[in-house]
Amino acid sequence: MRIVFATKNDGKVREIAQMMEGTGIEMLSLNHFEVLPEVVEDGATYLENALKKAKTVSEFLGETVLADDSGLEVDALGGEPGVCSARYAGEDATDEENNARLLAKLKEVPGEKRTASFFCALVLYQPGGLCHSFEASWPGRIIDEGRGANGFGYDPIFLDPNLNRTAAELPPEVKNKVSHRGQAFAKFKEWLLAAG
Ligand code: IMP
Repeated sequence: MRIVFATKNDGKVREIAQMMEGTGIEMLSLNHFEVLPEVVEDGATYLENALKKAKTVSEFLGETVLADDSGLEVDALGGEPGVCSARYAGEDATDEENNARLLAKLKEVPGEKRTASFFCALVLYQPGGLCHSFEASWPGRIIDEGRGANGFGYDPIFLDPNLNRTAAELPPEVKNKVSHRGQAFAKFKEWLLAAG
């Protein structure tokens, strides 16, 4: 079986390749295809965006497609950046710019009020229209200065309180066990194995 993972984000491709090791499933990313449909991620929820991505790409390529949409929600900011996480500091913002904007907004917010969670929605869409979804979250806290060199996005400023490490300080195999995407993937893999 082969599944196209609908992302070009190298950080996500790396994580997903590790998580699918040993399943016998061939995983391709969008980097393997030259012509792709445009998908505007304008949904109000992660699930809506993931479904739109999976359906559009599946119908275009005629392949089974897995798409994810994820983001960070900071309680003190009313859930920002949320579905806009990738473009928090502007349309083509870098991870550093997004992190800097978030830290600036939280400047006056004390440690105990800096709670936040990552969320992930995964949708598997098969040609013909069958689809399944899987969701998970990862609670933590935003620290006031980045730490660690692993991962991507908001990882350096997101602290897992149980492990007392930022997501960027965690070895990939540990992050993949505890993260929102890792847990959503675990649900997907469990479903896949049960479905045979
Ligand atoms: P999308 O799911 O590709 O639309 O974008 C999600 C955005 O949320 C990423 O570009 C990151 O900014 C952020 N994000 C999602 N998952 C993670 C993660 O595991 N670590 C750090 N940032 C993440």
